[in-house]
Amino acid sequence: IEPTYDDAAEDLVERPPVVTIMGHVDHGKTSLLDAVRETEVTAGEAGGITQHIGAYQVHHNGKAITFLDTPGHQAFTAMRARGAKVTDIVVLVVAADDGVKPQTEEAIDHARAADVPIVVAVNKIDKEGADPTRVRTELTQRDLQPAEWGGEIEYVDVSAKTKQNLEDLLETIQVVADLEELKANPNVEASGHVIESKLDPGRGPVVTLLIDRGTLKIGDAVVAGADWGKVRALVDYKGDRVKEAHPGDPVEVLGFDGVPEAGEFFHVVESDKRARVLAAERANRLKTESIARRSG
Ligand code: GDP
Repeated sequence: IEPTYDDAAEDLVERPPVVTIMGHVDHGKTSLLDAVRETEVTAGEAGGITQHIGAYQVHHNGKAITFLDTPGHQAFTAMRARGAKVTDIVVLVVAADDGVKPQTEEAIDHARAADVPIVVAVNKIDKEGADPTRVRTELTQRDLQPAEWGGEIEYVDVSAKTKQNLEDLLETIQVVADLEELKANPNVEASGHVIESKLDPGRGPVVTLLIDRGTLKIGDAVVAGADWGKVRALVDYKGDRVKEAHPGDPVEVLGFDGVPEAGEFFHVVESDKRARVLAAERANRLKTESIARRSG
């Protein structure tokens, strides 16, 4: 069960928005994630090579935006099923030459169920037969009235292929994020969620965490579900070793004893011993529940 925190207003600092890209298959989610990532490289702000840790950041107007780079609904719903709210904004990708499709509608339902604001990226506007107005008309029928037609939803026409209007998309995401007033207290022990984890043959368990609150540091004792760890190393989305991670940052953590599931809540506790006890308690609870389930 996740605690709720009651931070004093003066302790809160602006944090980057966390964005998930959703939409129908082949409408360009992966291409758009790649193209957005490349805006940072051409801006010369990050190293050339970004590694896959489940999320990355780009900067616009000097401020970071965090993108979860597992496109599609599965990751989003898996996390929501665990009660994890890790997304602040959904970018709904709709191909301008194809329009609204079943998974477009599913994505709208997911975003609404999670109460997350939607920005529409009308993609593939470079293509012959692209009809961005038709996309707006179709989505208006699903109650996503474009701001330029007097509604409340921001639309941006883009092309992941020609890289057209990507800065506009980032700008729009920031405008929507500003309305959400996303803030967190950085001066406490870190907590947040697991975005992905894997067992690396060389490095052992590698767990990507998204920090919701507080600052994660090397040496911290962490619990995530039935797993615990002492942070041995922190690696950012560029592959650089860092000493700390802050609210809104994704960070790869080495030092876990196992691989907690995506969506699992994590938090820093006062000692390794405490972390071990909490993880063991959780493991026992899970075991008891599963025995209870099996015996009907
Ligand atoms: P996803 O299934 O939503 O992740 O879609 P992909 O990113 O895999 O894209 C599906 C196909 O559409 C690929 O062949 C892409 O090259 C192509 N595609 C994606 N974005 C654009 C675009 O802006 N313009 C054009 N012409 N093709 C695109």
